[in-house]
Amino acid sequence: MQAASKRATQQSSHLLNWIELSRSSLRQNIRSLARLAGDRILSVCVKSNAYGHGLDAITRMLCDFTEIEYLTVHSLDEAAAVRDAGWDRRIMVLGPVPSGQAEAVFVHDLEPVIFDAKALTKYGSLSNRLKRPLRTHLKLETGTGRQGITDKELPQFARIYKKYPYLKKPYGASMHFANIEDTTRHSFAEHQLDRFHRMVTLMSNLGIKPVLRHTASSAALILFDNTRFDLVRPGIAAYGHWPSKETYLSYRLLGGENDLFKPVMTWKTRVTQLKQLPADSFIGYGCTYRTTSPTRLAVIPVGYFDGYDRKLSNVSYVLIKGKRAPVRGRICMNLTMVDVSDISGVKVGDEVTLIGHDGKEALTVEQIAGWAGTINYEILARLQPSIARMIVP
Ligand SMILES: *Cc1c(COP(=O)(O)O)cnc(C)c1O
Repeated sequence: MQAASKRATQQSSHLLNWIELSRSSLRQNIRSLARLAGDRILSVCVKSNAYGHGLDAITRMLCDFTEIEYLTVHSLDEAAAVRDAGWDRRIMVLGPVPSGQAEAVFVHDLEPVIFDAKALTKYGSLSNRLKRPLRTHLKLETGTGRQGITDKELPQFARIYKKYPYLKKPYGASMHFANIEDTTRHSFAEHQLDRFHRMVTLMSNLGIKPVLRHTASSAALILFDNTRFDLVRPGIAAYGHWPSKETYLSYRLLGGENDLFKPVMTWKTRVTQLKQLPADSFIGYGCTYRTTSPTRLAVIPVGYFDGYDRKLSNVSYVLIKGKRAPVRGRICMNLTMVDVSDISGVKVGDEVTLIGHDGKEALTVEQIAGWAGTINYEILARLQPSIARMIVP
């Protein structure tokens, strides 16, 4: 990541491709999450470059919000970037840490999620050598079939905890729901919750009673009080996006209001070229589009390299002067062509909105995801980190 693009820029006038991050929307989302969390600890998930928003800029804003006690990251690199951005509260690391870099967990004062006995042993011996206590969070397998530890494996973990005094007890016990976003029927989530309760009891019986239990991602936090336990770890909702239509529907069916979250991100570019094409002209690679009448075309400097999915070819549109300009032909690696025949007065340098509002028109991440055949999470997470980030009020 280039240093220049990592730091959020203050003005967009010289930029051709930038993401605006609304501080007030982020503020509102965090307030809503803190209200849902009640007296539980709030951990905000900033993995995957803060869901594509820009880890540095988002972390610097989150530093001002005192409701947040933890940030959740996937990797050691992300944890280090969060520290660089000035975050001095707690950090939980969800993903694997290479065993050769385990010491960095102590250096950056991190709390790793544990799903592997070897890793726990390594932390145990390091904590002994450094004489530094370490808080760890066991990931329990309750039906997601991903990182979790099974009932049978728990005694082995209990033995490791007892062997290393600086790991006296597991600080946390966690699990992740497999089927809480994709459905309005939540029986599998309830089944997982039952298993979680049983495993927590088993941990207590083994003498490693967890003091911080956590299971709730955004959907669980929004919908079910009995998933909140001691700490909640929402991600996508912090950025103003619902985990899914089903979550939104379930929430509304429970009587919830629709003013909880506001999208933080607006993605913009500029018209860099205009041209007039006669009728019957092809546009772009593969000659997939052919004009039926004289066409005024704008070229914009954004393509699939930036995370503007190629499946949006001939399907999506962008906003210019508050109007929709349809994408024509295939999206290229760095460029996209849009039809501005029906938008009067378009000039080189005019702002183009790829995601967000322009006047009365809006293009949501969810619409884009639908057209691209994926989910809002993926559209966000794949936004190129090198795109400039700008904090706006
Ligand atoms: C990503 C993630 C979250 C946050 O999920 P959202 O659906 O974005 O709220 C929480 N917990 C774990 C383990 C995760 O991997």
